[in-house]
Amino acid sequence: MSKKPLDPSVPAVAISRRGVDRLRAGHVWVYRSDIILADGIAPGAIVAVRDERDKFLGTALYSTASQIAIRLISRDSVPDLGKLLRQRIREAIAYRERVVQNSDAYRLIFSEADFLPGLIVDRYSDVLAVQILTQAMDADSVRSTILSELNEQVKPAGIVERVDSKIRELEQLPSRQSSLLQGEKTSTVFSMNGVRFHYDFAEGQKTGAFLDQRENYAAAAQYAHGQALDVFCYQGGFALHLAGTCEQVTGVDSSRPALEVADRNAVLNGKEIEWIEANAFDLLRDYATAGRQYDTIVLDPPAFAKGKRDLEAALRGYKELNLRAMKMLRPEGVLVSCSCSYHVSQADFLEILAESARDVHKNLRILESRTQGKDHPILLNVPETAYLKCVIASVSY
Ligand code: SAH
Repeated sequence: MSKKPLDPSVPAVAISRRGVDRLRAGHVWVYRSDIILADGIAPGAIVAVRDERDKFLGTALYSTASQIAIRLISRDSVPDLGKLLRQRIREAIAYRERVVQNSDAYRLIFSEADFLPGLIVDRYSDVLAVQILTQAMDADSVRSTILSELNEQVKPAGIVERVDSKIRELEQLPSRQSSLLQGEKTSTVFSMNGVRFHYDFAEGQKTGAFLDQRENYAAAAQYAHGQALDVFCYQGGFALHLAGTCEQVTGVDSSRPALEVADRNAVLNGKEIEWIEANAFDLLRDYATAGRQYDTIVLDPPAFAKGKRDLEAALRGYKELNLRAMKMLRPEGVLVSCSCSYHVSQADFLEILAESARDVHKNLRILESRTQGKDHPILLNVPETAYLKCVIASVSY
């Protein structure tokens, strides 16, 4: 490794021993508390990272606002950021061509997991939805590089930006509206595993759909049978997949706009599904008390633990839901239970499921213990990239 940055115009940031250890362990973040020297560095600047003794460790994108002050983009010097970004975008696209099947909707770029920290791009058929999360990715020159490479490689009919105003505020970026950035299309129909969905960039959560569940939809459909209940169904991702193999499917969500799209999706696929607008906790309590029985139940609640502090309450939430669902499952019934809280580990989640099964005196067999789809890559040394748990289990007796 060279002692000096190759390009003296790239400002240097010095980090503490703890920061160095983190990078050496394969992580890509350095927190502000581990920055020793970062004088006069502009928001979103590209910086050379050095240790206390001035040894060069790599090139990073700097934020003056986030607690994550540094996001490493290369262990080498980066003479041309635009060139590197273009190359990374092409690699991300090529990776999806290898791992995604039978779907034209998937995450094309997943931030750190694609070595493009702060950038998310989702593909919904011929529309791309972009999310920019950091100062560096928001720079005009970076934005235009991203758009031009996406255009060249994917040739979409529209590129839209979905703005997360809370994140922009935290990152001290000027406020911005969600808008069409290029082309003319903002709505489309996309398909996952042969099931079709409406997409409209003005609606919904995340960039529109929960693409991270794509492979879990297909897996759940393999085991699902009989009467099915999809709890926290949103726009019907699981419910529509289950409708192929189940006699009857009911979807439950507290969001009316989500259920309206879910219903249009059912029509699009020629399926009949019952949609119920309700608080899932109340509904499960009432149904369980009334002795209702199902053959398949999906639980896919929102992230209950947004931070470490919420962990206890989150675990209680998962316990309550799973307990009630298990109670209502017939013998040979199938439970598909998900958690998208990063702070709830796979081990915590399995423990909750085990406790719930004990409490309802049922034996459950794990059919599959799954995670997010491969288009949401998990970096082995960046644990924050792994967040979704999806356990498929069957009730023995
Ligand atoms: N399973 C969905 C994603 C679920 S996201 C899919 O695969 O697309 C979580 C959903 O839970 C959101 O649609 C949200 O509206 C809903 N939700 C949040 N709190 C709820 C509650 N208390 N009762 C019912 N639905 C709730």
